Parts: sequence; structure tokens; C-alpha cells
Amino acid sequence: MDITRKRTLNQPTDKAEKASTDDDNTATSKSAVFFTLFFTSWIFVIVEKCIKGNWSIIAVPRFPSDVNSYIEIKTFAILTVWFVLQCILYMLPFGGELVDGLQIKESRIRLKYRLNAFFVLTANIIGFLIALLSGIRVTSVFDKLLQMTTSGVLLILLSSIVLYLRGSKSDKTGNGFNDWFNGVELNPRWGLFDLKYVCFRSGIIGWILMNFINIAKAFDNGDKPSVTLLTVAGFQLLYVADYFWFEDGILVSRDIVHEHLGYNLLVQFLMIPFCFAVQTRYLMMTKCELPWYCLLAVIILNLIGYWIYRGSNSEKNNFRKNPNDPQFANYEVIPTLTGKNLLVSGWWGICRHPNYLGDLIISLTYALPTGFSYFLPYLNPLFLFVMLVGRERTDGDECRKRYGEAWETYCHRVKYRIIPYVY
Ligand code: NDP
Repeated sequence: MDITRKRTLNQPTDKAEKASTDDDNTATSKSAVFFTLFFTSWIFVIVEKCIKGNWSIIAVPRFPSDVNSYIEIKTFAILTVWFVLQCILYMLPFGGELVDGLQIKESRIRLKYRLNAFFVLTANIIGFLIALLSGIRVTSVFDKLLQMTTSGVLLILLSSIVLYLRGSKSDKTGNGFNDWFNGVELNPRWGLFDLKYVCFRSGIIGWILMNFINIAKAFDNGDKPSVTLLTVAGFQLLYVADYFWFEDGILVSRDIVHEHLGYNLLVQFLMIPFCFAVQTRYLMMTKCELPWYCLLAVIILNLIGYWIYRGSNSEKNNFRKNPNDPQFANYEVIPTLTGKNLLVSGWWGICRHPNYLGDLIISLTYALPTGFSYFLPYLNPLFLFVMLVGRERTDGDECRKRYGEAWETYCHRVKYRIIPYVY
């Protein structure tokens, strides 16, 4: 999500042009300030609600007034060591293939990536269980959530400053604040080490570890985790394990291919562990348990979502890799001038983004088990819905430019964008 990027590499040639450029820079600086404050404070607000169990979205958060509640050297050190460990695990010469990413438009080169996210996730879970069984108080993260949040914000703040200083002068726009916020480099690297890729994966792994911590905390409290809590944590683990199992799909995602690494993207990665674990936190604290028949209905809905999500993504990916596969012998396709064909049969004949539909259903099944008393657990599905609707529009515009007439024919044949008969 690149909110304010505005390149002004060519110097303005006259006063009017310069004035307009200055106005643009001021406007982008204002939105950069707004989003910096908004994203950062949003994490703190969600964390405060999770700590206090203050679930109402309109209830004003009440933050502690002493500095020690926010900053602790030990917590900062633990988070830093954990992140360094993620960097080391990424660099291990095993656990996954070394593959080429997409060609980067700006540099015309293909970067290499180690696809070992599934291995790293497994290593983290095993490490967590070993720590738990050896009596280490892993649940102290739960009690230090505010310090953990501040540590995360400090880490991304320092990283974004280093990234800004590291960026070459020719890639900067001349507006320091915008460059720091949006990032200067697309893929900051030290050899094979890719900071953006590792930060993204670490955010997702952090989300799963937060869920494990929430489950462990239920045991700490002398209770057993509810079946509902375990089910939601299971859904999220399945989603992430699948995402990492098919990791080559991440290499073509927008964040990796198009977004520069600055505070903007880093803070969005930081939101994943702190804001996505809200549902398991809610279920752990409220001890809410769904009747078995409701839970069964949610499980069935999740599996339907997963079937659509995985089925449609695999169908398209396999078709792009090998259109002559016998699997597609009876599929109807629309040829395009680029030589690629568009599927009109199977999942991609039902709507133009069946994978988004599956993703939305899955996301809804994380929130439904929390009941309908509070809206907070529904913020993530809502956020995903808004994001995917926007993404579908952008992707549609890009496909129209790429495939022209053929895309129009496809849209005529497949009328619905994401939800058949609705949207
Ligand atoms: P998609 O996988 O939806 O790919 C879109 C591309 O598919 C188009 O640009 C086009 O590319 C190709 N395509 C479109 N229609 C057809 C057709 N009929 N036949 C063949 N190819 C077609 O892109 P995303 O990266 O947006 O999504 C990937 C997955 O990641 C999705 O499941 C999405 O839900 C998920 N996601 C999850 C997020 C989360 O936060 N949970 C955030 C973002 C994405 P081309 O023709 O060039 O091959």
C-alpha cells in the first residue's frame, strides 16, 4: 500500500512547475505524517484493548502514565534476538530451494530468494514448545505486550532510518520525510539477505507465535484453552502453513514486487502479530465457547473457504506454469495477443477473483466464533475486504491494459468480480 509515493527526480524547469512540485511534496508529507501516526497509534490502541479486555471499539483507550510500562531493555533485547534469529534461519543453506524472483522493473535483474518459510515456521513452533516444556515463561510476552509493542516500533523506526541513510541520493525525491516513510530502495539487500522479505515473513510467524502464547496463557490461568480458541488458532495456522508451503506465490505479491521498504511498509508488517492475534486473545480472555453445532458450522465454512482459496490459486498457478497440462484439456479459454490465455472455465469462470472470495470467507471464520457482542474481532475481515476490493480494481485495470479486447470479452463472460450474484 504505497500511499504517498511521488517521484520528483527530474528537476523542475520553471517557477510554476517548481511551485506545483512543492505543493505536491507538502501534500504527500502531510499524508505521510498522518499515516505514520495513524498506523503506529492503531497498534497501541489494539494492544491496549487486548491487555485490558476493553473490547468495545468506541471505548476510549486508557494508557498507563509511567514510562516503565512502555519500555524495558530486556523486552527490547528479546525481540531483537528473536528477529536476528529469523534472519539467520533465512540465510541457512537448507530448508528450501534457492529460486529466482520476478524481474525487477527498475533494475532489470532477477533476485534470488531462499524459499524456506515453512521450515522456519516449523523451527519457531518447535523452539516455542521446547522453551515451554523446559519451564521458560514464554507467556511473559503476554504480560509485557505494551513493552513488546514499543520495542517493535523502536526497531522499525531504527531500521527505517538506516534504510533512508543507505538509499542512494539519486533514488531520493528530495523530500526527506516522504523518502523515510515510503522507503528509498525496493529490495534492500546485503548479498542474499533480503530485509523486506525477512520482515514480511517474520511478521506472519510472529502472529502464529502470539496465538501459541494465548493458548499457553490459558493453561497458565489454570484453565484449559477452549475448543473454540484451539479451532481459531488451528484455522490461522493452517492458513499460514499453506501460505508458506506455496511460498513461490509470495514472490509475485505486490508488496514484494512493487513496494519500497520504508516506515510505511514496516509498520504494516508490525501490525500483523499485534493486530491479527486479536481473535485468539479475545477467546482466551473471555473464555467464550461456541455450542458444538455452531462451531461445526464455522469449521465447514472455513473448509469451504479454504477449498475455494486453494483450488482457485492452484488452478491459475498451474495453468500459468503449464497451460498444456491434461488437467486443462476440457477448459475453455480466451486467447490474448500476448500469447497467454485467460481461463473461463473452472474457478475463474465463476467470478474474476475466486481466490479473494475464499480468502474473505476464511477471514470471516476467524471472527464468527467470537460471537456478535463486539465488533473489534471483525476489524481484520473488514480490513481485508476493503483491501481486496481495491486490489481487484487495480488488478482489473492492469489486466485491461495488458490484454485489451480479450480482457473485455472475459469481463463480459464473467460478470461478477468477487462474490457471484452480489459483486
Ligand atoms: P491473483 O492471484 O489474484 O492474480 C491476479 C492475476 O491473475 C492477474 O493479474 C492475471 O495475471 C491472472 N489472471 C486473472 N484472471 C485470470 C484468468 N481468468 N485466467 C488466468 N489468469 C488470470 O493476485 P494476488 O497477488 O492479488 O493474490 C494472490 C493471493 O494472495 C490471493 O488468494 C489473495 O486472496 C491473497 N492475498 C492475501 C492477502 C492477505 O492479507 N490475507 C493480501 C493480498 C493477497 P497474468 O495474466 O499476468 O498471469
